[in-house]
Amino acid sequence: MINMRYLYENSPERYAQDVVCSMNLAPPVDIYGICDSYDIKVCFEDICTAEAFLVVTSRRKSIIINERKILYMPRQRFTIAHEVGHLFIPWHTSQCACYKIGNFDTSNATENEADMFASELLIPTASLIPKIEGRIITLELIKELAQEYNVSLGAMTRKVIANTDEMVMALLYYGTGGKIIQAQSRDFDLHLRPGIIQSSAAKELLNSRYGNESMKRILNCGEWFMEANNDFEIVEESMYQPHFSRVFTILRVANDFDYFDAFFR
Ligand SMILES: [Zn+2]
Repeated sequence: MINMRYLYENSPERYAQDVVCSMNLAPPVDIYGICDSYDIKVCFEDICTAEAFLVVTSRRKSIIINERKILYMPRQRFTIAHEVGHLFIPWHTSQCACYKIGNFDTSNATENEADMFASELLIPTASLIPKIEGRIITLELIKELAQEYNVSLGAMTRKVIANTDEMVMALLYYGTGGKIIQAQSRDFDLHLRPGIIQSSAAKELLNSRYGNESMKRILNCGEWFMEANNDFEIVEESMYQPHFSRVFTILRVANDFDYFDAFFR
């Protein structure tokens, strides 16, 4: 029996890299240009509950975006790139209805793979690495890169943290003290405390509800983490996201530059 194999087994990113190389794409990647050159029609419609559909027939290839749900431009770009992923990953079907795009849901292999494809298409690893190599992963750096690549803060955060040697964790913090980890680097093995983090900038931002304001704070490790280690402190950089009534927070181990910066502030 012949064992059917694909060009890149279990590697959706490789298919995205082929598109980037063949079209010689540079950030911000022109996702509509990609669709044009592969004859994919993109339209926005008032569709039921799904965020987007991919529909391929013998005559045409269409991506249909839910015009009520996907409004924010970086999210539109990621949604289109996700659907292009279903089209290009050879073991995916050509008819898809997608509901939680960008969640990197590991319990749903094809959705996770299409998200990985989209991430690599819009943020090619080869172009990102020189921009983060040897750099401290700050909120400012992630914001700058998200703008340069025209992707959401969340999409850029995941990609940066997956490719840095620094110890970093990114999370969403809610008024109830609920937290959703968005990404953490491989060696980051500390565990978040449950409930409200009393001395955090995140809590302060939610209480005072500054519009889009961000705050930086150096705290004892035990304020955020179960491991109350006195050997090092944690830098918290938090940004209030008023549309979601939540705070986006980056945590990392403090270094000399942080103390220097704090001193001169
Ligand atoms: Zn999908």
